[in-house]
Order: sequence, then structure tokens, then C-alpha cells
Amino acid sequence: MDANKPAAPIYVTQPDLPPLEDFLPYLQDIWNSKTLTNGGPYHQRLEQALGEYLGVKHLSLFANGTLALITALQSLRIHGEVITTPYSFVATAHSLLWNNIKPVFVDIDPHSFNLDPARIEAAITPQTTAIMPVHCYGAPCDVEEIDRIACNYGLRVIYDAAHAFGVRHQERSVLEYGDLSVLSFHATKAFNTFEGGAIISQDARMKRHIDHLKNFGFVDEVTVVAAGINGKMSEINAAFGLLQLQGVDAALAKRRAIFERYRQQLATVAGIASAPQGEAASNHSYYPILVQDAYPLSRDALYQYLRDHNVYARRYFHPLISDFPMYRHMPSAAHANLPVARRVSAQVLCLPIFPALEMEQVDAIAALIAKAGLDGS
Ligand SMILES: *Cc1c(COP(=O)(O)O)cnc(C)c1O
Repeated sequence: MDANKPAAPIYVTQPDLPPLEDFLPYLQDIWNSKTLTNGGPYHQRLEQALGEYLGVKHLSLFANGTLALITALQSLRIHGEVITTPYSFVATAHSLLWNNIKPVFVDIDPHSFNLDPARIEAAITPQTTAIMPVHCYGAPCDVEEIDRIACNYGLRVIYDAAHAFGVRHQERSVLEYGDLSVLSFHATKAFNTFEGGAIISQDARMKRHIDHLKNFGFVDEVTVVAAGINGKMSEINAAFGLLQLQGVDAALAKRRAIFERYRQQLATVAGIASAPQGEAASNHSYYPILVQDAYPLSRDALYQYLRDHNVYARRYFHPLISDFPMYRHMPSAAHANLPVARRVSAQVLCLPIFPALEMEQVDAIAALIAKAGLDGS
């Protein structure tokens, strides 16, 4: 029996849930009102409260982040080609295919793991209409440089900000950069509504348009202006979000403490590079490590070793999006075009991080990583 082996499985994340009793009054209220969806009172209250919490003016709630991404592209009539990152969750590129847009993959920066702005211009063609970067692990993209390029070439910028809840940059919300930003409130994210998402727009007119699109394109009872989708968030999800919002600062503080503990504990393990994107301006939703050549085990061997010890780390993001069958034939998916993303994808492992994780568990996981290294040498 290994002293560091946790008794029960530890997964990479665990949703942060308030006590069930706290949610019952909200449910009772929804039962009483019989308003279940279609922009009811909880939906309105959550839009208001989230806008205030995040420091953004125009926010449209969605049933999930993927529908929000698809609608964000539709709302700006993006077409042709869009420059994006291969190092993300697959929904980033899928949202382009759903709009009949061709993704053009550009390599990432080795430090931030975000789209490398120095490589964007070379990928622009007459068909390019937008850039869709991701604030990977909640670390802001080089928003100033991306803005400069977008301005010069007349491109739109839509940020997949699924990881960037509450992240600030230069004293403001990172969600205020670009034309639109998209959040996910999926159960695995820093703030969750079970399933959910949002589009942040920069003016009231755009928000209104997006609100039409998420309701089948209805403007009023008899006017439909586009082939909109059903992207509405239900009253139950919105009410849960309101309750979650009360505890979100405490949850983020716990994540930060865990993040710092890992960093401390892993600093001396040779061949393990911690959270290389730096801790500045992230919400500590993820703890990525890179398993480098100096470590005695391969990334996959460490992944298996941890699993054998009840620790379920995840290889986010492996495989790259550009390796999936619907993308890999594209010229921009070629290995030679994406050397940094390939290397990071081969080395990365995201360690468990969630508010309920105990410091002793963090220490045990760090000790397993240090010990696996010794065992293998
Ligand atoms: C979670 C996630 C999404 C999808 O969000 P859902 O709410 O699950 O649809 C999109 N992009 C990234 C980068 C994500 O991590």
C-alpha cells in the first residue's frame, strides 16, 4: 500500500456545489411561478448579476458555450476562413464548421499556450474574415497585438473565453476585448450552471441581435429575422447560477491556494515545468504541467502511474483539434505548421484542481509525481 495513494479516486475537477437545501427555495419559486424558460425572472436576474460581477455591460445567457460560439459567429455573419488555435477543446473549431467556415490553424506561443500573434499575418488570405483565439487555461491572449492585426486587416475577433471567467487584463475584464467573447458555464468550469454559457458583446444593439438569434430569430410574435437557434438558458440553470455566484469568490480563492501549493511542491521536481503560462491574470481553473525530457517517465507513463494511484489527471489538450478526422486533411493542420502545439500537446498534463481538494491531497499528488520520477530512473 502506497502512503501517497488516495483512498478514493481524485478526478481532474469536481463541480463546486452549494448545499441542496439552499437551492430548494429557488425551485419552489420556479414551481410557483410556472415560468420555466424564455427569458424569465431568474434569467434576467442572472444576466444582470453576472454583468455586474464580471464588469461587462452586455451579456446574453445561453444554454451552453457551444451554442454561444455558433451564434457569436452567426451574429457577425462570419464566413470564409477564420484563424484559430489547434490547442483547445474541440468545440472551438466545431463552431466554425457549424457555420460552414473553414478553420485555419495557427501555432501557439510556447509560454502562454495561446495563439501566437507573430504567426497570424502569414495565415491571412482574401477569404479571412475573423480571428478566433482562446484564452487558454484563463491566461489572457496578447489582446493588444491581436487587436492591432485585426484592425489593420479589417478582421473581426471572437474570443473563446470558456476558461476566462472573472479574468482581468489592464484593470478591466478580458471579456471586453475583441468584438465578442464567449463563456462556458459547463459543470467542469470555474463557474457553472450545470450547463450554460454566455456571449459578451460591446453594445446594446449587438446584444439585442444575439438575443433574437438565440430565440429562433424571433424579434416579435410575427417577425423572424434569421435562422436562429434555440440557445436559451432555462430558469433552473439561471437560478442555480445566481446561487453559485454567491460562493464564487471563495471558490476562486481556494483554487488560487491550491495552484500556489502545487507550484511550491513541484518546483524542485526535475523535468516538470509548472503552469508555464505564469500565474498572472488567470482564474486558476487549471494546473497544467509539462513533462519534459529531464523527467524519467514519459507524459503518458506518468498519466498511467497517477491513474494507477487513483489520481485522474487529464491530457488537455491532446490530441490537438487539428488531428481529428474532420480537420486533419486541411493544409494548416500539417504537423510542420504546428510544431509548438504538437510539443506542448505531447508533454502536457492537467492536475486535479477544484475548491474541495484538500491541501493534503495536493501534497500527496505532488509527492506521487516526485516519486514516480525516482521509481522510473
Ligand atoms: C468547455 C469549452 C467549450 C464548450 O463549452 P460548453 O459549455 O461545454 O458547450 C468551448 N471551448 C472551450 C475552450 C472549452 O473549454
